[in-house]
Amino acid sequence: MTSIENPRDLPKVDELLRDIRLNKIMETLGYVPVRDAVRKILDAAREILLGTQDSDILSDTIYIDYALALNTTHDTDALLTENILTLAVLRKLDDEAKPGIRKVINATGAILHTNLGRAPLAKQALAAVKRSAEGYCSLEFDLANNSRGQRTTSIEALLCRMFDVEAALVVNNNAAAVMLALSSLCRGREVIVSRGELVEIGGLFRIPDIMEESQAILREVGTTNKTHSFDYEKAIGDSTAALLKVHPSNFRLIGFTEEVEEKELASLAHKYNLPLIYDLGSGCISSALASLMPDEPTVASAVDSGADVICFSGDKLVGGPQAGIIIGRAKPLAAMRSHPLMRAFRCDKMTLIALETTLALYLDPDLAKQHIPLLSMALCDLDALRDRTQTLADELSGYGIPAKPEPSEMILGGGSAPELRVPSWALAIRPENTTGSISVVALESSLRAFDPPILCRTSHDVVLLDLRTVSEEEERLITFALVDAFGKEGDIP
Ligand SMILES: *Cc1c(COP(=O)(O)O)cnc(C)c1O
Repeated sequence: MTSIENPRDLPKVDELLRDIRLNKIMETLGYVPVRDAVRKILDAAREILLGTQDSDILSDTIYIDYALALNTTHDTDALLTENILTLAVLRKLDDEAKPGIRKVINATGAILHTNLGRAPLAKQALAAVKRSAEGYCSLEFDLANNSRGQRTTSIEALLCRMFDVEAALVVNNNAAAVMLALSSLCRGREVIVSRGELVEIGGLFRIPDIMEESQAILREVGTTNKTHSFDYEKAIGDSTAALLKVHPSNFRLIGFTEEVEEKELASLAHKYNLPLIYDLGSGCISSALASLMPDEPTVASAVDSGADVICFSGDKLVGGPQAGIIIGRAKPLAAMRSHPLMRAFRCDKMTLIALETTLALYLDPDLAKQHIPLLSMALCDLDALRDRTQTLADELSGYGIPAKPEPSEMILGGGSAPELRVPSWALAIRPENTTGSISVVALESSLRAFDPPILCRTSHDVVLLDLRTVSEEEERLITFALVDAFGKEGDIP
């Protein structure tokens, strides 16, 4: 095939569409998407030939660049031909068929990475979702009485049983849980909160803003570093609706500090016949996990403190799907249940099924440890992790890739337990030390461009891959991706 050098020589749309590969793909995608992709690629080729590409916008010329790069041999650049244009069209169609949210391999070691979807789900939870959601399910149907049912009856009963509380509710996320508590219990009245707890959690969840939105009146007490019981007590008056305690999930106050313990705060609230609302944030349930983070309150300790409304996330230390879990006393929860926002915040069937199945695993702590990925990753055996890392390092060394296990620290992520310092191991690759070297930046981006993308940590001269958050199956893919990355620019056989 001859090289196309002049826009005049570009094939017509119909000519390119005659290619057998495009005909084949038309059988599944239909005519229109394929024709449109051909038009776009021909436009992009015209831009390249005329030199009118706008480098600031992501354009379809990348597909042509990609096809050219793949067909470049050691000595010669590939030429722009009809074949290259067809390959570019195929690549574009392939990209368009992928969903916006894609599977990735998380080798960062951050177990609850918010940008990567927080907690992976237990197999049992996924199976239950599949079983109930691929057809119909008894979401709001009472099978025993052949009547309309309530979507959260069984999950609420499970929560009451697990935590020995009077009532429970489930909403879309913890931000919604706090919003619902403030709107239904405190609207137009004062909520007393310590100045040390006016926190911002990621994604612009800020306590003062949520307060304003719920039309509760924020009554700040104490100072940034110290708040005493008498600060709260002095502020209590006729217009007080509740005391609020917020767990500072993602930071710690250290040094000359004081906060009022939950128990004392609950007693104070009850002395004045007020409820204590406790935004617990992460909501650790597993005692084995709790033992790694002595400073993190648990759901059990929150219940024990006597707080009346306790809110926490389903996808932080619980290890389930995104949800907001509310447990506590019957009276305030009844008011929350009948508030109109409850309808806006209600969960979808897949969330409820996944959450209920995940929570049920906690009834047997060993099952939970074995099957809830958050727990099995956080509590994995350190020697086994080092051995796995060493085995992968040995295999990579066989390909001439310089890798070795290095001591590291476990990262929880998701704005939980910021002080956590649990020793761990990571696979360290210093790519620039090898002959035919490739840079840290090039290696990181090559791994990220892999399918599925592999995400890792880097510092100035090293790429760190943490196998704690990687499955054995994914480990194989990491090996392929690394051999591929080094093979392209290095001297690997
Ligand atoms: C994470 C967190 C929230 C928000 O929870 P989402 O489930 O992400 O909506 C609210 N409060 C605290 C204290 C948190 O840690």
